[in-house]
Amino acid sequence: MDTVFDMLSTSLTTHQSVWRSGVFFSTLLVLAVLEALKPRRPITGRGQRWINHLSLGAANIILLRLVLPGGLMAIAINVEGGGLLGWLGLSPLLSFVLALLVLDLVIYAQHVMLHKIPFLWRLHAPHHGDRTLDVSSGLRFHPAEALLSGAVKACAVVVLGAPLVAVIAFEILLSAASLFTHANWHLGKADRVLRLAIVTPDMHRIHHSRLDAETRHNFGFFISVWDRLFGTWQEAPTHGQQNMQLGLDDMPEHGLRATLIYPWAKDRK
Ligand SMILES: [Zn+2]
Ligand SMILES: [Zn+2]
Repeated sequence: MDTVFDMLSTSLTTHQSVWRSGVFFSTLLVLAVLEALKPRRPITGRGQRWINHLSLGAANIILLRLVLPGGLMAIAINVEGGGLLGWLGLSPLLSFVLALLVLDLVIYAQHVMLHKIPFLWRLHAPHHGDRTLDVSSGLRFHPAEALLSGAVKACAVVVLGAPLVAVIAFEILLSAASLFTHANWHLGKADRVLRLAIVTPDMHRIHHSRLDAETRHNFGFFISVWDRLFGTWQEAPTHGQQNMQLGLDDMPEHGLRATLIYPWAKDRK
């Protein structure tokens, strides 16, 4: 086990760019093919949405690189061995697992706060404006939310003293999970099994419901246990997966401009 972990650590830290872009683009491609072959819900108007979402995804990557050169990895290199995990003095493997769990919990908590605090909701609402969900929706985050999320993750890495390999693995996991949970792919019975451990597309779609009560459920990003543990779990949408409506009443269009100005728009409800 330790040998496998050592090999994985070496590979991730030595070739982190290859791992990150390789997993991201292959996940995007595979899911795009799978949802075209076996869509969960009928889908139209892919073209402009994909251009908007890919533009947002690229802009957010560039923005984070400018604000934080070297990204979370640069921070992790400086704090590794310190923080809570350094104080606990656990084995590298245990520190790795614990860091992944805690970082996922932090993202869950951040997501809850994005919905509960009105100012933060303005930044997160553009993600919910999409009236059709597919794999590209996993890139639809307002740059202000991307910056906030980067700052929260940076704080968590410092407090934890998260190992570099855990931070790289978490960034890879987070981007792949974001694509996976928004996919319009019908997993069939596999969804029931997978959701025992991880967030699935059918689970996350409920969170994107037009019904306010349903958006207050299924906040998890990767591990599904947090929603069960903290009472925010919802098994199925009220009107069923096929009939449920997605999006926000006050964001009628998918345009990039509407998405970008939403947090500051005066006619917002
Ligand atoms: Zn949300
Ligand atoms: Zn989402």
